[in-house]
Amino acid sequence: MTTFELVPRPGVPDGSYLVIGLGKSGQAAAKLLIARGHRVIAVDSGSPAGSDTLGDFGAEVHLGTDGTEFVDEVDNVVKSPGVPQEAAAVAAAKAEGKNVFGELELGWRLLPNPFIAITGTNGKTTTTELLGQIYRDAGLPVAVAGNVGTPVCELVDSIPGDATVICEASSFQLEDAPEFTPECGILLNIAPDHLDRHHSFENYRDAKLSMFAGQKQGQFAVIGPSIDYPIPGEGRKYSVPAPDLEVVGEVIAVEGSHNKENAVIATQAAMLMGVDPLSIAGTLATFPGLPHRMELIAIKGGVKYVNDSKATNVAATLAALGSYEGTARALIGGSPKGEDFASLKAAVERSCAAVYLNGATATALAAALEGATVDVTTFGTLEEAFAAASGAADPGETVLLSPAAASFDQFKNYEARGERFRELVAALSG
Ligand code: ADP
Repeated sequence: MTTFELVPRPGVPDGSYLVIGLGKSGQAAAKLLIARGHRVIAVDSGSPAGSDTLGDFGAEVHLGTDGTEFVDEVDNVVKSPGVPQEAAAVAAAKAEGKNVFGELELGWRLLPNPFIAITGTNGKTTTTELLGQIYRDAGLPVAVAGNVGTPVCELVDSIPGDATVICEASSFQLEDAPEFTPECGILLNIAPDHLDRHHSFENYRDAKLSMFAGQKQGQFAVIGPSIDYPIPGEGRKYSVPAPDLEVVGEVIAVEGSHNKENAVIATQAAMLMGVDPLSIAGTLATFPGLPHRMELIAIKGGVKYVNDSKATNVAATLAALGSYEGTARALIGGSPKGEDFASLKAAVERSCAAVYLNGATATALAAALEGATVDVTTFGTLEEAFAAASGAADPGETVLLSPAAASFDQFKNYEARGERFRELVAALSG
């Protein structure tokens, strides 16, 4: 049963291409363009793993340059999500009226498959993986792609024509995807994030809304309950009603009230796309959740240890705290992203037994939490904060790592931070 209409894909512009940024997605874009017969100049200011092998595929590779000197030589530019709009080569190409778009846009134009695209500030990866599992459990052909996983361009010519592409789309990808229009678009939530790159909340929000603009009556827009902005486009819009959260909450296996929301939204989208509801219910009851997102590491001496290292913004930490009433010992702090911490104060007062600040944002957090009715103590490192929290925790309480900040002050990435937490828990006796 087909319940939706496929969005007609615009063609890929003719001529030569400059691919700027050679991470996984840039490499995939370059290879695809070469396979389609385009001349490709591939540049990166560093030398990411694998980028030097692009020459073997027929690209002209230049590492250690931002590519500005090649803009005049090409007709089009494919820009990686990590490259800012202000980068000299991007600005020059735009000023000269060249097509500039990203890898997601390129892959989508070449894939005649139905797309479910998931965007929002928090919950994208969780909802994407949950939808992938829903399709697999229902025995339907599916390919999960986007943002941090498999680049969409890698799917071209490699997946069956009837497979549904389930694709996580970040605001950076959507900024570079002017025509991208999924058959089913999901907007989970929008809270301030990445303001260092998007400059204003409005820019960030508009990037996320852009994928709905081209939708017609034959496509779906599934909108989270906290969204109160008008959604552009003519697609059929479905807001998720609050009572459904209660019903699905009884069924799902994962921790955290925000995961109920993700589950209801995924269910709505899958049902619209024609997946059997009974099969969906089975998936919800067994989906284990993802590492570093409200992940229960262990229960020791009656104390739960929960790793939410992926909470790199205030909204994610507010969602985590929402699952506790006075029983959390929260480890908060990391490297700054230009966010305001004021909204954490009321949340920690309601949810926490005590707060253990650490890392580069500790001073700003301490100022925001000043006068709070719970104990707030500042530590130099995550390890020191953990030692204090685990030493003080009583049975029935939860030591929660949910930093409301990026990890780069003390760790390589959020995964390394979560793994350190796991090691610290493992080293506790009991
Ligand atoms: P993303 O891919 O958008 O970063 P993840 O699924 O990786 O999202 O989750 C990131 C963080 O956000 C985790 O801390 C997770 O617990 C939290 N989170 C997940 N879903 C939601 C939601 N619907 N609302 C708020 N926070 C959420």
